[in-house]
Amino acid sequence: MPRTYPSPPVELPLRLDGDPEPDTDCDVCQALDEQRSEARAKRDMSKVSDLNIEIRNHPHRGKGRRS
Ligand SMILES: [Zn+2]
Repeated sequence: MPRTYPSPPVELPLRLDGDPEPDTDCDVCQALDEQRSEARAKRDMSKVSDLNIEIRNHPHRGKGRRS
């Protein structure tokens, strides 16, 4: 019986663009991060990616350098 060539792994996309890090000083980002964890636990990847977008797009002043 001929072996079929191994099909490419079609598992869940673990990372699309990589998860954005929530700003540790931002309550909104922290809340979004919690929701993201819950959504991920439920395998609700469309919600996870929505939350990723929200976290990534959440505006912060003086990000990375405070003066
Ligand atoms: Zn934020």
